[in-house]
Amino acid sequence: MRLTIIGSAGSYGSAGISCSCYLLQDRSTSIVLDIGNGSFSLLAGRIEPGEIDALFISHRHHDHLADLISFYHYLLFVPGARRKRPLLLASREPFDALALIFAVDLAGIFELKIVAGGESVVVGSMRMEFAVADHIEGTLATKVIGDAAQIIGYSADTAVTPSLVSFFAGVDLLLGESTWLERPGGISGGLHMTAEELAGMARAAGVRELVVTHVAFPATASAAAELARATFDGRVIAAEDGLVIDLEARANPDLP
Ligand SMILES: [Zn+2]
Ligand SMILES: [Zn+2]
Repeated sequence: MRLTIIGSAGSYGSAGISCSCYLLQDRSTSIVLDIGNGSFSLLAGRIEPGEIDALFISHRHHDHLADLISFYHYLLFVPGARRKRPLLLASREPFDALALIFAVDLAGIFELKIVAGGESVVVGSMRMEFAVADHIEGTLATKVIGDAAQIIGYSADTAVTPSLVSFFAGVDLLLGESTWLERPGGISGGLHMTAEELAGMARAAGVRELVVTHVAFPATASAAAELARATFDGRVIAAEDGLVIDLEARANPDLP
């Protein structure tokens, strides 16, 4: 399974960095996790949007769904782009927000599916599992199992919770949010993770590799990754828009 980081910014974009969007691909299936503001043009540079099998929206904040409207209009107007009807997966809350914000007929373009924590969905050769995150109402984290049985976890936006530590136990790669380097004054707990909290969750879950993402400007992912390395012993990668991580190449270093 191959992960392409399309957008890695936390909460709002900044110069050259788009909001949350991650492309997962194996031999036959392509899934997009979130589609935050600024991400669609970069996504379309990495995959023909009409080839996307499913889009998962983790929660109703703009930095995770704003460019759905670009994806919708692309499929609506570009001749030949509507090769398939992509699955649109989310809890009920993002669907309610999308109906208010965009007021378009999403069901005319996408196959809408409401999912909840504890459920799983098969998309082509991949399987997605969902768990409730500790953020705003209706936020879901996910785990994606590809055709070579490799597992990528995505924290969405969340604070550390014991249930997510169990959910991510043993995943090959955790794409984890570290909105803050340090917890801001006035926010004593919940909502998001610091780099240290994320690293502690990755260590407790025994994940093999950690990608630190969703870092809010002016903090940087490389600074957050450096902090995470003090707590997590495995490989730590700073998310960067355009970065490709191929788990199969990792597992088979002899492959060309
Ligand atoms: Zn966010
Ligand atoms: Zn959020």
